[in-house]
Amino acid sequence: MNMDGVTLVDHPLIKDKLTKMRNKDTPPAIFRTLLKEISLLLGYEVTRKLPLENIEIETPVTRTTGQKLAGKKMCIFSILRAGEGLAQGLLDLIPSARVGHVGLYRDPDDLHAVEYYFKAPPHLDQRFCLVVDPMLATGNSAIAALDRIKSAGARDITFLCLLAAPEGLKAIRAAHPDIPVFTAAIDDKLNEKSYIVPGLGDAGDRIFGTL
Ligand code: URA
Repeated sequence: MNMDGVTLVDHPLIKDKLTKMRNKDTPPAIFRTLLKEISLLLGYEVTRKLPLENIEIETPVTRTTGQKLAGKKMCIFSILRAGEGLAQGLLDLIPSARVGHVGLYRDPDDLHAVEYYFKAPPHLDQRFCLVVDPMLATGNSAIAALDRIKSAGARDITFLCLLAAPEGLKAIRAAHPDIPVFTAAIDDKLNEKSYIVPGLGDAGDRIFGTL
């Protein structure tokens, strides 16, 4: 598979935590904790390009020049509902970030994405927008969410997930070649119900205990 534009965040801590999350016997409370811990590790990688500006400070010893995050605050976009599991950890890592939400459901007749909720902070065109959903399966909802976020004015967008299916990666890169994708793992395939294999089941159900 052409990995152009796709960053696989490959780290032993992530692999260990992800394997625990995949285990069907891991209860929701542990699943949420692991997802939050992984989101901090992914957040570290995905924010590498954030711009900095110099700032003069005084340490207890001397004056020095340090750095602080520059420009407009970042926006974390959570694709409801499973995106919440990734967004919370990222918000702990970057407390100054603003948060947007995108809620979409699949029309049962023609399967197109229908929006039921959209809320975003102002000045999206000046923000680094990080769109998060743990599972990139077919890519349909991610693509629809990215379409919507772009139509709201966002220009600098990155998509972050936990697990990606090759099918979803191909679809999202074809629809939005300008949007880099970060993932903690690339799984084998989708099954006939569009679940990721081996995957971890329904991420929303596992986060919120609605199995
Ligand atoms: N969404 C999920 O939560 N799990 C999958 O395997 C695919 C989509």
